[in-house]
Amino acid sequence: MFTFDELDNLKDKYQTLLENLDICTWIYNYSTKKFIYISPSITKLRKITIEKAMKETLDDAFFTYHKKKFSKLIEARVESFLNGDKKEDTISKTYEAKQFDRTQKIIEVEVFTKIVFDEEKNHIYIYGRITDISPRKQLELQFRKETRHKKDIIKKLVIYEEQVAQILNELNEKNETLRNIANTDELTGAYNRHYFDKVIITELERNNRYYESLSLILFDIDHFKKVNDTWGHSTGDEVLIKVSNIIKDNIRKPDVFIRWGGEEFTILLPQTNLEGAIVVANKLRVLLENLEHPHVGRVTASFAVAERLSGESFENWFQRLDSALYKAKDNGRNCVIAAEKHITETHWKKEWESGNSIIDKQHKYLLLLSNKLLKSALVTVDIKETQN
Ligand code: GH3
Ligand code: MG
Ligand code: MG
Repeated sequence: MFTFDELDNLKDKYQTLLENLDICTWIYNYSTKKFIYISPSITKLRKITIEKAMKETLDDAFFTYHKKKFSKLIEARVESFLNGDKKEDTISKTYEAKQFDRTQKIIEVEVFTKIVFDEEKNHIYIYGRITDISPRKQLELQFRKETRHKKDIIKKLVIYEEQVAQILNELNEKNETLRNIANTDELTGAYNRHYFDKVIITELERNNRYYESLSLILFDIDHFKKVNDTWGHSTGDEVLIKVSNIIKDNIRKPDVFIRWGGEEFTILLPQTNLEGAIVVANKLRVLLENLEHPHVGRVTASFAVAERLSGESFENWFQRLDSALYKAKDNGRNCVIAAEKHITETHWKKEWESGNSIIDKQHKYLLLLSNKLLKSALVTVDIKETQN
């Protein structure tokens, strides 16, 4: 900081320079409450003459960003200073303030102030330096606006994300419903043939690979035509629903319950051998037998059970099952019949001939015996009969 006299001398010497500086300096006599010097650059800064600026009070010149007047901020510091507070923060302080130019345009400034005590005259001066920070403030404002804008965008994105997640959720639910509609029978809620066709491919592959047991139950409601004829088709439907529900409630989770068509149903039983499937079929038969239907009373069903033979085609397997169901109907209905195990006979092949007629004759005889043995192994189990 220059002294007052030094500044006066400099003023003449560097008039043009001083007028064009971006920084404006001033000296304020705190005792008389008057500016005693303002550098010429005030004209560049605020577009007012030095004379006009000199007539202003501190509060005419500077507007703070809060309620406290600029003069009060200075007063508090001077008072503290006079009470012996010589802290750096008391002596020198920088404020941000607003100033107005002739056209009332706001200029944002940084005001550095310093308390200078002239002990000789017992006068207090305030040295000041104003820097125009409007461009910086504008940048800050723009930055704040952009940040706010970005924050708004982020907020919107979060909302969109939530909406998208919700839509995806709904979509998944709808897809699940569609899948269920596509895979299940509308009346009974049991799986349909379409679903069975998909599942059986996997199950046959698993069965081929791991040699685990795989069984099928086929059952058909007995004299169902009579139910329809006597009580009407919708009562018949009610019976089908009730039958399906009790089956669904009494099989294991991995078991697949399918409406095969009309009043005929199948149950695919993974990891279940023939004996296990017979037990399940008989349990279900008894449950159905004891189920009371409104109006109709009791309704029974005939059951067939078949375990898949090693490497057996589905067609062969199901044909054995179907034949067993015929047998169950023939057998008086309301029973469980295990399918016959049709094991293909082995026929003599030309390439097996040794050239020795006696040995070949003995081998052929052995083959005949083994085929006879296989035939005798055909199984037909009538559970109802074996129980009675
Ligand atoms: P059986 O003991 O020999 O099986 O006698 P059945 O009368 O049950 O056999 P049939 O195959 O002659 O009759 C089946 C009946 O099931 C005929 C058909 O109208 C009826 N049906 C098929 N699907 C439905 C259905 O969705 N609802 C109703 N109410 N009836 C059905
Ligand atoms: Mg029937
Ligand atoms: Mg039928």
